[in-house]
Amino acid sequence: VRTLVWFRRDLRDNDHAALYHALRQSREVACAFVFDRDILDGLLDRADRRVEFIHDGVAELQRTLEARGGGLIVRHGRARDEIVRLATELEVEAVFFNHDDDPAARARDAAVEGALHARGIAVRHYKDAVIFEREEVLTVSRTPFSVFTPYKNAWLKALTPAHLAPYPAGRHVGRLLPRSTPVPSLHALGFRPTNLHDLKLPTGMAGGARLFEDFLARIDRYHEARDFPAQKGPSYLSAHLRFGTVSVRQLAAAAWQRGGRGAQTWLSELIWRDFYHQILWHRPDVAAGHAFKARFDALPWPNPPGHFEAWCAARTGYPLVDAAMRQLEQTGYMHNRLRMIAASFLVKDLLVDWRLGEKWFADKLIDFDLAANSGGWQWAASVGCDAQPWFRIFNPVAQSERFDPDGHFIRRYLPELARVPAPAIHAPWTMSAALQQQTGCRIGRDYPEPLVEHAAQRVRALALFKQIQAVP
Ligand code: FAD
Repeated sequence: VRTLVWFRRDLRDNDHAALYHALRQSREVACAFVFDRDILDGLLDRADRRVEFIHDGVAELQRTLEARGGGLIVRHGRARDEIVRLATELEVEAVFFNHDDDPAARARDAAVEGALHARGIAVRHYKDAVIFEREEVLTVSRTPFSVFTPYKNAWLKALTPAHLAPYPAGRHVGRLLPRSTPVPSLHALGFRPTNLHDLKLPTGMAGGARLFEDFLARIDRYHEARDFPAQKGPSYLSAHLRFGTVSVRQLAAAAWQRGGRGAQTWLSELIWRDFYHQILWHRPDVAAGHAFKARFDALPWPNPPGHFEAWCAARTGYPLVDAAMRQLEQTGYMHNRLRMIAASFLVKDLLVDWRLGEKWFADKLIDFDLAANSGGWQWAASVGCDAQPWFRIFNPVAQSERFDPDGHFIRRYLPELARVPAPAIHAPWTMSAALQQQTGCRIGRDYPEPLVEHAAQRVRALALFKQIQAVP
């Protein structure tokens, strides 16, 4: 039996569900990846770090498969057509792939499956990107969870070592078909290089493994360090989880076996990831701009002119928000605490529709993940499942004082504030004229005046939400 494994968001050759099953069930296994025009042509920016990250991952995957005696056929076209064409050309009996529960991917996969079946080719698909998916963790009344903590408890209760066991590809690698086609250059795909290789984000399986090893040395302090953006607290593995250059089973197994506060807190973050993935499975409309709590779709967002633009351009006059937005622009990453602060500020201080911020993050984040981004934005905007209550509004200055007390992170991204001391750096408009002179940071000239006054905006935001809250 000859089969085909179609790689998508799972760019690795170890602990890979579809590859493992194909190798076990076949005599010959071809491997393929398609640079999908349906996705790439929709990207606004022709210099996109994600395309480069994937490009690196595909090139590495081809090398490692070849080193095992196999290969990787790489195409550039509409995936839904290319895979059917390739399966026909190779005369395979079945196509194997891992689940991708993004609504667009579900539609694509259903179309591919239909076309393959029409040609008498079987389709086998597997869970791979998460520990529990779809209907695997439900409430006692067999409905989806919409609150995290009970979901997490049920998740932990359902977990057995088998859920974390790796899929060993090794035993049957001799069945890999040594067929490859060259990886098209970035240029041929219609993209320009970015600054990806200047960032502290090593790519591919090797990069993911290196980051994980580095993180394991500090995982025990994760719960203390993770909220402080100036510290090396989190794992920085999100892009690798997004594109499958690491196996989530391997990460979860390591955290589970290790135990202790740090590893347990980190495992919880991986459970948040599963949580939002199952929300997206049950409620694909949340990814299409609908609030999980439907009544909030009626919120009349003021969207004051210039507010969204100032937020995007890192010119709100609130240093921690602006530093966060520069981090996103310069690196394609933003620290989790800052994602919460920046999102909350856009929605509750600038009174801008959360969907605009969600889209901005979706365009810029290397780790952009539909489920997590939609979940995160709806959490911050208080319109989602298990969201921040609408009357709890972050104070951007207090958050700055608490999570970047010395201003180290702010100074890293806002050199114009380099000489402004803490505590003034959290609210630089409070500096006296003399201090502005002395620090070389004149407000309104070297750094913007605050775009809004937090206390006044807070009152407006509460009034906005109350209109909806009053609706039965
Ligand atoms: P670590 O702290 O090391 O966490 C490990 C992994 O757990 C992460 O890589 C991620 O896969 C997962 N994780 C952590 N926190 C969350 C969370 N709250 N929800 C879901 N998964 C989580 N995460 C994305 O992967 N893609 C996104 O597009 C995304 N958008 C977000 C938007 C907003 C407004 C907010 C508030 C959060 C968003 N997150 C998103 C969640 C979180 O901020 C990132 O996963 C995290 O900052 C990635 O850094 P890390 O890998 O160093 O995280």
